[in-house]
Amino acid sequence: MTVALELAGLEGAASRLETATPQEVVAWALQRFGAERSAVVTGLQAEGVAVADMALQVDPQARIVTIDTGRLPAETYEYVDALRERWGRPIEVVHPDAALLGEYTSSFGLNAFYGSMERRLDCCHIRKVEPLERILRGVDAWMTGLRRSQSERRATTPVVELDLEHGGIAKVNPVASWSEEQVVAYLAARGVPRHPLYAKGFRSIGCAPCTRAVAPGEHPRAGRWWWEDGLDKECGIHHRPQIGDARVPGSNA
Ligand code: SF4
Repeated sequence: MTVALELAGLEGAASRLETATPQEVVAWALQRFGAERSAVVTGLQAEGVAVADMALQVDPQARIVTIDTGRLPAETYEYVDALRERWGRPIEVVHPDAALLGEYTSSFGLNAFYGSMERRLDCCHIRKVEPLERILRGVDAWMTGLRRSQSERRATTPVVELDLEHGGIAKVNPVASWSEEQVVAYLAARGVPRHPLYAKGFRSIGCAPCTRAVAPGEHPRAGRWWWEDGLDKECGIHHRPQIGDARVPGSNA
């Protein structure tokens, strides 16, 4: 990765930004790549919303993009409108490819993701990963809300990395070193609302049928794909789990 960063001319910035504030990182990304050729891509969890808010302060033309998987909780749709009102800016909404989705649901049913890990990953691919790939084909950099303390898988997330899975563009993770509390405090200080499901015990928010609230003391991502028995609670946007990384209880998948 270091060699790749060097080739992209990003090694110096990547090293320097490891100790910069998230706001400095966001400002660097927008200056380096421009509002047209970069995007904050967020599932509207607190971290991504904080990064989006920082970006809009640097440049009101910053692109904020979210993916409507078609299975989001009603609260998420209300929240998109609340954020549009707070920021006075549009949020770009990208949808799954209708033909791919139709083929999947016609073949396997509307809730096939409960049946096996393979079907779940196929659903995440069609509803999340493929739309993301379309978004990223049009930019040179994307900003995320990844934090190191969210999971073991994310523990080594750098602030700036080269995203080789998406054509070698830059992937910028401004709040990588922040705690959940720092994100919450940032949004409160800025008067930016949090997703309403946090108040109902959710610590990580995704599609309605695949996300539920967690009990105090449970891992923050335990509510994601709660029927799968495994640590790798990922959809494929940041890391594609392999079949076998998680186990669906009662199945061979
Ligand atoms: Fe499909 Fe669930 Fe993944 Fe959403 S989280 S894309 S409904 S499997």
